[in-house]
Amino acid sequence: MVSHYKREEIARYDKKQTVFSGYGVAPNPKNYAVSVLSLNSEKLLICPFCLTIEKLWKYVISPENKRIAKCPNCKNQILFKTLFSLLEWNGSQFADFVQPYSKMGFWKKIYPDFETWKRRLTYISHSDDSDDSFAQQFWNRYKALKGESEE
Ligand SMILES: [Zn+2]
Repeated sequence: MVSHYKREEIARYDKKQTVFSGYGVAPNPKNYAVSVLSLNSEKLLICPFCLTIEKLWKYVISPENKRIAKCPNCKNQILFKTLFSLLEWNGSQFADFVQPYSKMGFWKKIYPDFETWKRRLTYISHSDDSDDSFAQQFWNRYKALKGESEE
């Protein structure tokens, strides 16, 4: 059995420790252990492919992988950076992300199907000054961008 002192020593020299910051998972700059299950790991994130909400720690693939997240529901991989951005975006900004991505298979990754995705989109609310809902903002912008790219 490893003694308490020994555990501390191991943690002190373990360079694989990670820490969650407001911008995702970052390398731990300190040379002592920081619990992965910190308060921020309870932060709720929304997955763009299935539009379900889960706690941050459920997206963690491994302590070594600090950049890429994996959705526990649809199993799609995505950058933590994008998951954090998504919390800040309004519907138009989300469309700015999805539309260019559609050429790289965004709609093939959505889960479980388009109808469910579309319905879940209408549940998202965003507190900005616009009278349009998140879903309306999304579709207006998406169609505008699609029109531009087809010209
Ligand atoms: Zn997902």
